[in-house]
Order: sequence, then C-alpha cells, then structure tokens
Amino acid sequence: MKVLARDDMATEFMPFWNAVDAGHLSFPVCRTCDRFHWYPLNLCPYCRGQDIAWSEVSGPGELYSWTVVRHAFDPEFWDQIPYIVALVVFPDAPGIRLVTNLIDVAPEKLSFGIAVTPAFDARNAADDPLRFRIVSA
Ligand SMILES: [Zn+2]
Repeated sequence: MKVLARDDMATEFMPFWNAVDAGHLSFPVCRTCDRFHWYPLNLCPYCRGQDIAWSEVSGPGELYSWTVVRHAFDPEFWDQIPYIVALVVFPDAPGIRLVTNLIDVAPEKLSFGIAVTPAFDARNAADDPLRFRIVSA
C-alpha cells in the first residue's frame, strides 16, 4: 500500500508512531483539563493549555463508522480495492476518533459499535500503516 514515509510525517505524530512501533496506542491528553484530542497539537484545543502528555490506551476500540472504497482513484490502489476505511473511537480516550483501515473482515459483517483492536502484527516495517481488526467473539 502506498503510504507516507515516516520522514515525511509531521513531527508531532512521532509519539503516536513510536508507541505503535512498541506495540501499543498512545494519544495526547491535556494535563490541565484532562481531555484527549486528536490530531496532536502543542496547545489543547479545549483550554489552550500547553501541558500536553501522551497517555497509553489499552483498548479495544469501537467502530464508530466506516465506508467501503470500491474505486481506486490512484492506480497504485487497484490491487487494494475493495478496502474499508474506518473511524474508531476508544472508551479509554473519549474525544479520540482515529481514521484507519479494517482488515480481515467482510464489510457485511460490520456493525456500529463492534469491538476492534490494532493489528500490530500486520505491520512489517516502521512505515507500514496501523490497521485494525474486529475482535472475534
Ligand atoms: Zn486542556
């Protein structure tokens, strides 16, 4: 899959990707108002506080919404379609909505609120994207 190389990413995302490389999720949280925010910012979008920490989120997440991409606008994605673009929320991190891909599931099996978990094992290199799977019942 065509992805941005790590060196091309904004530096404020590095704590997220370093956590992913270590096999867990971490999101920015404001120490002043205790609210999570995404994407990473140097100022809290709620209280303008500058004391931002990163907090590990244990998961699982929940499927908030999704769409199935069936047309490749870029020829490099022809072999990927159809694929699922998902919006994942985390009970441990209210306010976070992460855009990701779901793998290893047929779209007709999806429903709102089902449990999803990061597919850390599906990454072969540091530049591989983070994808999610549904949690099997
Ligand atoms: Zn704040």
